[in-house]
Amino acid sequence: MPDSPVWRLALPLPLPRLFDYLPPVGEAASAGDIGSRVRVPFGSRELVGVIAEVGPAGDDTPQLKHALARLDPQPVFHGELLESLRWLARYTHAPLGEVLATALPATLRRGEALADTHAWAWQLTEAGRTARERLRAGKPRRLADRLQDGACDEDTLDDDLGDWRSAARALAKRELAERIAVPVSTRAPAPRPGPTLNAEQQAAVDAILASRDGFAAHLLDGVTGSGKTEVYLHAIADCLARGRQALVLVPEIGLTPQTLARFRARLGVPVHALHSGLGDAERARTWAAFARGEARVVVGTRSAVFLPMPDAGLIVIDEEHDGSFKQLDGIRYHARDFALVRGKTLGIPVVMGSATPSLETLRNAQTGRYTHLRLRERAGDAQPPTVRVCDVRKRPLEAGLSQELLDTIGRALDADGQVLVFKNRRGYAPVLLCHDCGWSAQCQRCDSPMTVHAGGRRLQCHHCGARRPVPNACPDCGGLALQAQGAGTERIEEALAARFPDVPVLRIDRGTTQHRDALEQHLARFGTQRGILVGTQMLAKGHDLPQLTLVAVVGIDEGLFSADFRAPEKLAQLLIQVAGRAGRAERRGEVLLQTHHPGHPLLATLLTGGYSAFAEEELAQREAAGFPPFAHLAMLRAEAKHTEACEGFLRSARAIVHDTGAALDLHGPLPAPMPRRAGYQRAQLLLSSADRRTLHSALDAAMPAIHALPDARKVRWSLDVDPVDL
Ligand code: ADP
Ligand code: ZN
Ligand code: ZN
Repeated sequence: MPDSPVWRLALPLPLPRLFDYLPPVGEAASAGDIGSRVRVPFGSRELVGVIAEVGPAGDDTPQLKHALARLDPQPVFHGELLESLRWLARYTHAPLGEVLATALPATLRRGEALADTHAWAWQLTEAGRTARERLRAGKPRRLADRLQDGACDEDTLDDDLGDWRSAARALAKRELAERIAVPVSTRAPAPRPGPTLNAEQQAAVDAILASRDGFAAHLLDGVTGSGKTEVYLHAIADCLARGRQALVLVPEIGLTPQTLARFRARLGVPVHALHSGLGDAERARTWAAFARGEARVVVGTRSAVFLPMPDAGLIVIDEEHDGSFKQLDGIRYHARDFALVRGKTLGIPVVMGSATPSLETLRNAQTGRYTHLRLRERAGDAQPPTVRVCDVRKRPLEAGLSQELLDTIGRALDADGQVLVFKNRRGYAPVLLCHDCGWSAQCQRCDSPMTVHAGGRRLQCHHCGARRPVPNACPDCGGLALQAQGAGTERIEEALAARFPDVPVLRIDRGTTQHRDALEQHLARFGTQRGILVGTQMLAKGHDLPQLTLVAVVGIDEGLFSADFRAPEKLAQLLIQVAGRAGRAERRGEVLLQTHHPGHPLLATLLTGGYSAFAEEELAQREAAGFPPFAHLAMLRAEAKHTEACEGFLRSARAIVHDTGAALDLHGPLPAPMPRRAGYQRAQLLLSSADRRTLHSALDAAMPAIHALPDARKVRWSLDVDPVDL
C-alpha cells in the first residue's frame, strides 16, 4: 500500500530518529493521530511510542511492520505541550522519543490508560449520623465530628486531623462511616483571607496581574520571609478567578505538608501535589486531572513542568536558583528554563521567586528580559538576623566547634531558644587517617576518600554507596594509630550531646532522614522546645522553625576554595538560605559563621552588601572570565572501564565538532572532576561559545555523526546542554 500514510514514531530509544510503522491491520493513519501513544513490536521487544508525524512511507515500505495497538482515543500530547517538547528535544539534542517518555508519568510510559481521576473521601452513614453524639471522646469521635457537615476528602483530613486513618477504619467496621469516590474537583476547603499586602508586595502583585494577558517573565527578588509566597497566592487567586490553571514548581525539599496546607487553606480550591515521593498511580491521577482541566492548582517538583495545562494561566517557580530543578541524568533539562519556554508558548506570565537568584536570572533581569520585582523587607514584624563571623584561626576546636561557638549556643539555649548547627557534610568524619604512615581510607571504586560513619565503626562512600567496617589496624603499616579526621554531622551531634546533656540534640541528614515524611515527623516531635538541631542542606529551607534563634554555620572553608566556577554562587546562596532560617517569628535571630578565613572576599562582600552585592561582583568576574551567563556551555561526558575508550570517543567527537567550522572553544578531553566513580573511568569535553546560536548550530551539525561513531558504542556517553556541575 504505497499511498496510504504511515506513522512516524518517537520511540524511547537513544537513537536520534523516528521509526516508520503501519497502523494496526484494518486501521488508517491520519493527522489527528499525532501525539497519541501506540504499542509496537521492536526486535524481540514491545515498545510504547508516540506518533510524531504522519506521512507517506519512505522507500522501505515493504518491510514496514504494523503497530500492535493504538493506546489513546485522544492524543496525550497536543498543542502547546507537544510543541514545547519538540523544542526541548532540539535544545537538549536528545531523541524526541526519550524526551516524550520523560514527560509522561510512568503508567502512561508503560502503556496504561489515562488514569481515572476520582479522589477518595469519607462520609458518615445514616447510622453514623445518629450515633455520633454517643461516641466517646477520642479519635473516632473527632473524625465523626469533622464529617458531621458532609463528606471530606482524604487530603483535607490529612491536613486537618493528621493521623485519622485508624479512626476511619474503626468507624467503617461499625458501619458508621464509609469511603466514597468523589470527582477530584470537589475537594475544596473554604478560602481564608491572608494578611494585607505591604506596598512592595502590592506593587509586585500589580505588575504580575498587569502582564496576565501574555507572556512575561518576572523575577520576584525578596529576602527569606519577605512575603514572596503571599505574592504567589494573590497571583494564583487571580488566575483561578479567571478560570485558569496555575502550576507552582518548588525545589525537592521545599514541598512540605506545611506549604501544601498553606496553599489549600488560602486558595479555596483543591491543591494537588506532584513529587517523586508519590506512587505511580497517584502521580498519574494528578497528571490526568490537570490534563482534563479538573485540577486547577498543582504544586510540584521538577517533573511537574511537563504537566499538560489546557487552561493555563500562570507558572510560579519558587526558589528558582535551586539546583534540584536541573535533571542530572537522562534528559538533562532545567525545569525553570523549560517553564519559561512553556510560558512563552502558552502566552502566560511566569514568576520566579528567590532570596538568592541565580546569576543567569539576575543577568536577564538586568538586561530587561525579565522584570525585577523586589521585596526588601521582611513581612510582618520579623527582624533580619544579625550575622557575625567567628574567627577560629589557632583556636582549639572540639569536633570542629570552637569555644566561642559553644558558648553562644549555651547562651541561646539559656534564653529558651532553638539552635541550628549547620554542617554540609554528613557522617562521623570525612576521612580515616593512619597517624603513623599517612595511609587514608579510599573507596576502591571511586577516586574519593571514604567517610567514617556509625560513630567510627563503618566506612562508607558517598558516591557509590560502598561500605566496609573500619579496619582494626592500618592496612599499610599495621599500626594502630587510625584516626577519624574532621567532623561530620554525626560527630558534631555526639559532641553537642555530651556538652549539653540536658537538651535534646536532633540530627537531620540523609542518614537519619531517608524519607520525605521522616523530616516532618522528626521536626514535629522536636517541636518548639529548647534544643539543638544538627543538619545538612536538608534543613536549609522548607519547614518553618519559628523558635530558631541561633544558626551556627561550620565547615564552609572548603567551599571557599573550590575549583568549580559556580562554587562561590552556591556557597553564597546556601549561607543566605541557612541564615534566613533564623528569627522568622517575633524573636530576632543570630547567625554565626565559623571560619579560618574571616577576611575572604566572598564573606566580606556578603556580610557588608548582602547577596546582591555579592552577585554584582560575581557577575563581573564571570564576564571577565567568559563564564555563564556570558558564555553558553555544553558538556559531552563519557565513562567506561578503561580511560582509553573514553578519551578515544571524546577525541573523535572533538574532531567532528571542530570540522563543523563553528567558532567554539573546546576544552578536553579532560578527566572528570572525579575521574573514577563506581569502577568507571570518566572524562569530559566542554564546548563553549559566547553565542548560544553558534553553540547549537554546531551541535545540530555534529550530533548525528557523534551518534554514529563506532567508539560511541564502547562507552556510556551523554550530552549536557547548560551543565551545572562541571
Ligand atoms: P517568603 O515566601 O518570602 O519566605 P512568606 O510569604 O512565607 O515569605 O511570608 C513570611 C511570613 O510573613 C509568613 O508567616 C506570612 O504569613 C507573613 N506575611 C507575609 N506577608 C505579610 C504581610 N503583608 N503582613 C503580615 N504578615 C505577612
Ligand atoms: Zn599506617
Ligand atoms: Zn565509591
